[in-house]
Amino acid sequence: MSLVAGVIGVQGNVSEHRDAIERACTARGDDVVVHEIRTAGVVPDCDLLAMPGGESTTISRLIHREGIDREIIDHVEAGKPLLATCAGLIVAASDAQDDRVETLNVVDVHVERNAFGRQKDSFEAPLEISGLEDPFHAVFIRAPLIDQVGDVEVLATWDGRPVAVRDGPVVATSFHPELTDDDRIHALAFFE
Ligand code: GLN
Repeated sequence: MSLVAGVIGVQGNVSEHRDAIERACTARGDDVVVHEIRTAGVVPDCDLLAMPGGESTTISRLIHREGIDREIIDHVEAGKPLLATCAGLIVAASDAQDDRVETLNVVDVHVERNAFGRQKDSFEAPLEISGLEDPFHAVFIRAPLIDQVGDVEVLATWDGRPVAVRDGPVVATSFHPELTDDDRIHALAFFE
């Protein structure tokens, strides 16, 4: 298959997602072109999208300014896959409890920024993830806490808290699957 992928590229871990998408597609024998998206007009051509970790206030402001926000919502409403990680999850959520983030409301969860593992800014943990056979080594960096879930499937928890969810075509994680060499979350989000 020949695929067109997009990574929302206004800020954050953009090249890491690009690499992970390329690896995940190559492993399946699919050809892929990956666009780093900084302006409107590219998302409508994409079969699949990733929204990276980074700084959610900045990502939110820039996608709104460029008119990419509406295109992401249309992509999801068309049933096409989106993987949103960390800051990406915050932007995709229904409520970020922070006026500086204009959420896209494509994942039915409320999040609290920088609240997960408040004692430690960053930590790593082996996670059991629904749909994956072996644990996934998850990297959390100033991660958002999912403190309310609506109509979503919880794919993984840590310390009794949801840290990966699926809402229709969207998979969202509090952690950073793009920061490891393991592409199984990308494959789960895009192809299952
Ligand atoms: N703390 C960041 C935010 O609130 C998210 C952290 C990340 O993506 N690593 O936007």
